[in-house]
Amino acid sequence: MNRAAFETMINGRKTDLYRLENEQLEVWITNYGCRIVSLQVKDSKGKAVDVVVGFDSMEGYLKASEVYHGAVIGRYANRIAKGKFSLDGKEYSLATNNGPNHLHGGEHGFHNQAWNLVESGEDRLRFSYLSPDGQEGYPGNLEVEVIYTLSGPDLDIEFRATTDKPTVLNLTNHAYFNLNGQGSGSVLEHKLHINADRFTPIDETLIPYGTEETVEGTPFDFRQPETIGRRIDDDHQQIAFGKGYDHNYVLNKSGKELSLAARAEGDRSGIVLEVYTEEPGMQLYTGNFMEGKNTLKGGFPDEHRSAFCLETQHYPDSPNRDNFPTVVLRPEEEFVSRTRFKFVNR
Ligand code: BGC
Repeated sequence: MNRAAFETMINGRKTDLYRLENEQLEVWITNYGCRIVSLQVKDSKGKAVDVVVGFDSMEGYLKASEVYHGAVIGRYANRIAKGKFSLDGKEYSLATNNGPNHLHGGEHGFHNQAWNLVESGEDRLRFSYLSPDGQEGYPGNLEVEVIYTLSGPDLDIEFRATTDKPTVLNLTNHAYFNLNGQGSGSVLEHKLHINADRFTPIDETLIPYGTEETVEGTPFDFRQPETIGRRIDDDHQQIAFGKGYDHNYVLNKSGKELSLAARAEGDRSGIVLEVYTEEPGMQLYTGNFMEGKNTLKGGFPDEHRSAFCLETQHYPDSPNRDNFPTVVLRPEEEFVSRTRFKFVNR
């Protein structure tokens, strides 16, 4: 990676590119949106494969029509219906940047901020960002930290946050993965297992109805490993609404433990990604809106469904759904959430 291609200024702050490395993984991260730019994993023959889809310069990220590549998403990852929610009897209005809804923190979400680097080592990077009261319509000054740590085959992501007024918060990392390597075409032959018996069905604007449904007998059943592509174009209303998979799974778990959410395997590389999280949900998004219009690292186009995202999260539209796990953060609390990307070989 060319570090100089990431050295610029965003809103008066410097952007840069940093490297984490151990015997098994090499990861490049920019403070612009705390993005994972590149993640090199060794395949079974010992060859390094870059499994994260992205760009090789800041310009690439700034010009892209898809703006969330590899980024930390906040304050609210995923959608909030009509950009409105009430908290403690007060109504808040957010930007509607996705049809009628609010998506991924709005126009100026965490993904396009230059974060502060507060700690850096060979295997650890810690970034901070102050999201001011009223930013994008959200209440409270929010101090947020993202800590990336490499340990053996694991890339750990820890989110921490505090606020001075009650607010809502849902943080994720939006890496686009292709385990055969970026630029190697469609991910439809990847095998996927999702540790979830239920998902949250959505309407045509991708907002959950507020229900949980069994995956049994639907194209959403990944309880046994299945290729991503086998049922992605099934004649099913939920598939039609998502234009493929763009749905939140209710993970099987008993509490806030770090537990297996998903396991994906590159059919050609044999590289396996296991995702563990403390979050209750995970969005499976299969690059349905990738259209080949963006030029990725190495000059490859971002072809349709040539990457997938496993976004660990609270459920979409939770601020408007009392029956979903709460996303409210209060001043006396500290928000902590961990997600692990573990790489092994088949
Ligand atoms: C959303 C998709 C969106 C994608 C990239 C996902 O989290 O659910 O609908 O297109 O992010 O922006």
